[in-house]
Amino acid sequence: MNVVVCGGGNAGLCAAIAARRAGASVVLLEGAPAHMRGGNTRHTRDIRLAHAAPNAAATGAYPEEELYADLLRVTGGETDEPLARRTVGDSTQLAAWMEAQGVRWQPPLSGTLHLSRTNGFFLGGGKALANSYYDTAQRLGVRVVYDAMVRAFASDGACVTHVIYTDGAGDTAANGGREVRLACDAVVVAAGGFEADLEWLRAYWGDAASHFVIRGTPYNTGLALRALYDAGAQPAGDPRGLHSVAVDARAPRFDGGIVTRIDAIPFGIAVNANAERFYDEGEDLWPKRYAIWGKLIVEQPGQIAYAIFDAKTAGRFIPSAFQPQRADTLDVLAASLGLDGAALARTVASFNAAVRTHGPVDLGALDGNATAALVPPKSNWAQPIDSPPFYGYALRPGITFTYRGVAVDGDARVLRAGGEPFENAFAAGECMAGNILSRGYLAGFGLTIGTVFGRIAGANAAMPARARA
Ligand SMILES: Cc1cc2nc3c(=O)[nH]c(=O)nc-3n(C[C@H](O)[C@H](O)[C@H](O)COP(=O)(O)OP(=O)(O)OC[C@H]3O[C@@H](n4cnc5c(N)ncnc54)[C@H](O)[C@@H]3O)c2cc1C
Repeated sequence: MNVVVCGGGNAGLCAAIAARRAGASVVLLEGAPAHMRGGNTRHTRDIRLAHAAPNAAATGAYPEEELYADLLRVTGGETDEPLARRTVGDSTQLAAWMEAQGVRWQPPLSGTLHLSRTNGFFLGGGKALANSYYDTAQRLGVRVVYDAMVRAFASDGACVTHVIYTDGAGDTAANGGREVRLACDAVVVAAGGFEADLEWLRAYWGDAASHFVIRGTPYNTGLALRALYDAGAQPAGDPRGLHSVAVDARAPRFDGGIVTRIDAIPFGIAVNANAERFYDEGEDLWPKRYAIWGKLIVEQPGQIAYAIFDAKTAGRFIPSAFQPQRADTLDVLAASLGLDGAALARTVASFNAAVRTHGPVDLGALDGNATAALVPPKSNWAQPIDSPPFYGYALRPGITFTYRGVAVDGDARVLRAGGEPFENAFAAGECMAGNILSRGYLAGFGLTIGTVFGRIAGANAAMPARARA
């Protein structure tokens, strides 16, 4: 069997390894050059896995039912139940499988995201994870082609016969890329979402998309996803579905990764370009709320916001790559951020006057230190912003990935518009995660979906068509 895998991030690598171990001849087409290989997976740190007892990577048990309940909570029940159950069930097998491919774990971490019981952190982060998988895949005989952007699939009804990609630095055949037509017995599409195509995002978000910061790879432009749609695949997931967080406005347009995320918001206040507060900064524990702030900032004028805090809380959250603006007075801070000083002074004064503290501020719990008669309220961790120096970060919406992808069945086969599956086209990772995570997010679950469905897709793609039918 000749299996072509499109995309060399977590899901594609898991698929390539699984297909090769099942006896297929495998070519992996990675759109990025070798030094940029690994997509958004390069930026990851941890994977969410159900487990019956504590282990080298987790401080306690995380039963399957609890993980499933967590998934239902964040998605509001909008998930494909069989696919979700399969992901949760298979997650118990992943730690051992990952280790067998060279991945190593680090001891459980404590920190602001409180993941030490539920999530395993791999040693060396996502780059080491991807490097281990590339090493294993290539040792097993997977042929990896870099700079290979998949642009189209030729099909014979329900069967994909060829994968068409451009090979080389040019991004179209017209400007230098050589077009290659590769025959295949089966194809696995694992080329991520379309978050790096700002024009595509603009179609759903209008001009607001001009201010989006893309946290991950510039290579996830959705070309392979579009090619699947063109071949008749059924879309799945909300077109406007995005995972997005607050990032430093000085972050690079692409690929800034984890170090540009700003966790300062619950420690002070967040204001918009008019220096007005717009949402409860203390609504719930930060791990449950950080992923709503990207969208909240999208809704603000100019898609910008500012986190303001003072000396009492400086240094209490994970630092970002860049230092915050710092000033001895709020007026100077406002000027350095481009905010109206008088407006910021008014906002801070009314916030300070509304604060009712009952005890020490405790970011690890809902401490009930709240504002009174203030709109919007701050429901926890409220304390006056009155101790110089004052600090501020300008914030932009940082897009992690898009949810819109293709519909799949339990064998990871891509469904066609009429609902019946392609015979030999499979999908794994972010490009099908929208079947399971229609909205909301569980930290570390992107890798869980990609690893589970990468393995399923690879193993099924390696089977002769007869055996699959
Ligand atoms: C900053 C950041 C931190 C994150 N942290 C975590 C975390 O700790 N845990 C977690 O579970 N999730 C995390 N995520 C989400 C996570 O990246 C994904 O769930 C997972 O890594 C996605 O894997 P994937 O294989 O589907 O996509 P990717 O890893 O993005 O891989 C897609 C690959 O396809 C290639 N490609 C794209 N288009 C084409 C094409 N047309 N032809 C050929 N190749 C193509 C790309 O170059 C890329 O290598 C994070 C994301 C970001 C941005």
